Amino acid sequence: MKRSALAVVGLSMLCRVGSAQVPESGRWQELSFGAAEVAERMEDRYLDQVVDLAAGGRLDDDRVLLARLQRIGAGLVRAAAALKPETAVWRWEFHTTSDAGVDAQCMAGGKILVGSAFVRKLALDDGELATLLAHEVAHAVAEHDRETLSEALYFNRQPKPPLEVLMERLATDLSLQIRLSALSNLQESEADQLGMVLAHRAGWPAAAMVGFYRKLAADDAASMLSGGHPAPASRLSMAKGMALLFGAPLGGAAVAQAQP
Ligand SMILES: [Zn+2]
Repeated sequence: MKRSALAVVGLSMLCRVGSAQVPESGRWQELSFGAAEVAERMEDRYLDQVVDLAAGGRLDDDRVLLARLQRIGAGLVRAAAALKPETAVWRWEFHTTSDAGVDAQCMAGGKILVGSAFVRKLALDDGELATLLAHEVAHAVAEHDRETLSEALYFNRQPKPPLEVLMERLATDLSLQIRLSALSNLQESEADQLGMVLAHRAGWPAAAMVGFYRKLAADDAASMLSGGHPAPASRLSMAKGMALLFGAPLGGAAVAQAQP
């Protein structure tokens, strides 16, 4: 499923390195790699991961959850395209896995994987699942992988390593991960906020978003999702604040969900 060389060249011309701004927040990013080359490398990794999961019978083995992800994801992708038009041509993919080591993840270009055990443990309804998915979609929209690799390059300039080598260092080099932790924390907060904007624009009620973060804060095991993220209580406060910005009344619990 590799892109043709011509397509990559064309996309590279459209996605030059340099400065960019995150939608909504307007935060400036320094990007040393093109969007297309990062997306292609990440797609290779995603394919390796889903092929391994499929070989073990752990990919999309919850068909009901898969259908929910694809239905809810489609609305979020439309909201993302309204915010950042170039995402409309990305090859978004939504998969689920029964691998208990996976909670939720997103790779550059919109490759999303959600753990069925995590969704079941928190008993996420559609609006809450939309909030989880929107956080992941927001990481892609804000091009956090591309930004992280660019920042990693700053610490690995001499000599400049190939992108694949840098990705491997990011995955295995603890000292590099620590150096990048401030950026990682900032990106997680940004994904929470931008994700709520996307979910809101996709038509999901703010009470469901607050409900999701309330469940995370109440469940110790949700520490699965807290690595590199703000403390669950801070995320809940953020969600309540965003809900007020949306003009939504805040109930004590997530209310019945409207279906966008
Ligand atoms: Zn995240």
